[in-house]
Amino acid sequence: MVYPFSAVVGMDDMRLALLLNAVSPAVGGVLVRGEKGTAKSTAVRALAAVLPPVDVVPGCRFGCDPAAPDPACPDGPHPADGPSSQRPARLVELPVGASEDRLVGSLDIERALTEGVKSFEPGLLAAAHRGVLYVDEVNLLHDHLVDLLLDAAALGRAYVEREGVSVQHAARFLLVGTMNPEEGELRPQLLDRFGLTVEVAAPRDAALRAEVVRRRFAADADPAGFEAGWADEERSLAARIAAARALLPRVVLGDAALGQVTAVCAAFGVDGLRADIVTARAAIAHAAWSGREQVTEDDVRVAARLALPHRRRRNPFDAPGLDEETLEQALDDARPDPDDDPTPPEGRGRDDDPTDGTASDSTPSDGALRDGTGSFPDRSGADRSGGDPSPPSGEGEGEQAADDQPAGAAPERAAVAPDAAFRARRLEVPGIGAGVAGRRSRARSERGRVVGSTRPTGTVTRLHLVDTVVAAAPHQRERGRTGPGLRLARTDLRQAELEGREGNLVLFVLDASGSMGSRTRVAAVKGAVLSLLTDAYQRRDKVGLVTFRGADAELALPPTWSVEAAAARLADLPTGGRSPIAAGLLRAHETLRVERVRDPRRRPLLVVVTDGRATGERGTDHLGQAHRAAGLLQAAGTASVVVDCESGFVKLGLAHTLGMHLGGQTLRLEELGELVQNVKAAA
Ligand SMILES: [Zn+2]
Repeated sequence: MVYPFSAVVGMDDMRLALLLNAVSPAVGGVLVRGEKGTAKSTAVRALAAVLPPVDVVPGCRFGCDPAAPDPACPDGPHPADGPSSQRPARLVELPVGASEDRLVGSLDIERALTEGVKSFEPGLLAAAHRGVLYVDEVNLLHDHLVDLLLDAAALGRAYVEREGVSVQHAARFLLVGTMNPEEGELRPQLLDRFGLTVEVAAPRDAALRAEVVRRRFAADADPAGFEAGWADEERSLAARIAAARALLPRVVLGDAALGQVTAVCAAFGVDGLRADIVTARAAIAHAAWSGREQVTEDDVRVAARLALPHRRRRNPFDAPGLDEETLEQALDDARPDPDDDPTPPEGRGRDDDPTDGTASDSTPSDGALRDGTGSFPDRSGADRSGGDPSPPSGEGEGEQAADDQPAGAAPERAAVAPDAAFRARRLEVPGIGAGVAGRRSRARSERGRVVGSTRPTGTVTRLHLVDTVVAAAPHQRERGRTGPGLRLARTDLRQAELEGREGNLVLFVLDASGSMGSRTRVAAVKGAVLSLLTDAYQRRDKVGLVTFRGADAELALPPTWSVEAAAARLADLPTGGRSPIAAGLLRAHETLRVERVRDPRRRPLLVVVTDGRATGERGTDHLGQAHRAAGLLQAAGTASVVVDCESGFVKLGLAHTLGMHLGGQTLRLEELGELVQNVKAAA
């Protein structure tokens, strides 16, 4: 069964954000952040049932609207006054591990080349057209899928091109993502794509919690009865959405309300104008939802709370949320004199001076109404350029990603401020992996540069044209070719092998013993590790942290996506005492063994940060033990780097010796990256 939307308890912000998008898809989608077990997915999946149904061209696999069929529809052309049928609005789920073909659809290159037939199988983008595209664990979505999704969302169209054969179709959808921030943050570009964000948590109130449990029990015991019991509520909710949609074109965003929107956006220091536009649209949608034709201060307040928190954030270590005091102050400052009635009873016609066309969003030209679940903001190509500080995602060169490190993402505003910010150099795993897309080590991938070809094992997804022609050439005479043009057979086709970059598991083993030196030295080491963590975040790595001091080693942070969590552990890290290096390495060895089972394709990179001085109880060969533990890691084929933190005038070179036993490179702390003296000046 699909849990009824009206039966969802709590999560008021989330329900409101979804409903505002249902009223006005131009708001631009919802990102829901929250820990596991908050039933956020259940609530999202429930949304489709209360959305108005859509009119479609019967038989069109691309969901064309009979009133305005897509002229480029692969199933078209459809006649202007053709037949029409109605179907419920759809919610399509994009699994994080989906292939590119699954998302955008697949073009049969074999048929195109051997039969000259353009044969296209629609993907999820086509299925989601005029509906909802839902991505659970959206923060774990592969980079190249994110790029395809962003392109489609920005253009409202999907383009598929393979070897010069291309197909396109309309793809306007309401994008909804859910994520658990503990498993890693979202790339800034993707974050900015979502119109609204909400944080959800399990309700604290005992009575509410009891109600959640009660309803869950009732739903499980009698699904049909439960659904029937909520049918009236669902119907009235659907009717309210439909009524709000009908009211939307008449809602007016007056000068006063617009002034408050821009004042609030300015107060929170958001980049570009995208935030202002989204806030204005959300405020208009909220007015319609409340049955009003005039945007009030309350609409602006609600809109700002939903539209601004993620736009204000600058780096992965910042805390979420919106400062209420700043919000109220900004609303207050922009509030007109009480003599100027902000909500005139007639409530109309104060939109004659729109500064940037925002007010025109409240007119039917918005397009939100004609189109079932409506139009995604097509003008966002321009919107995006304003507030998008991040480099384009890398299928390719990691160097570029490092060079383009946005100044805004530098850790100067971090909760844990390192003494100095490094621009970390890229440490990588040698050889060629086959891991999921990322930006660290070389890997066979779905994207990247062509490095060779193979005979295809399944469908050809990337044709290697030269090798295909070479394979076909010797057979031309026997195939009876006389004139120009090659005669191709399926057996000639060659699949291109591509090399891009993968993300890795970067496991830090951090020496927290007393030998690491003074307070300032420890701060420098923490700063370097924090820079490496920032780097890992940008390269889509998983990170983990093992520390050792005193008598033992500790897995301070099991492998996770959350650089935030790693930074927090680092800040609280106690230091001092002896250096049980062997224990640290053995703990790392065990952690990696478990991870190899869990996530076999993700290759690990061990980063050991130490001065190499192993110490402990008397009468034991601590250095020898450390070297034996290192040998164990090397024997398991673990790629490693030692960061030598030795300080002082007399150098023992112990870290270097440890590096040799690990079979990896040793770098001095200073060699990790160029010191960026003043990050702010670089911006
Ligand atoms: Zn069509």
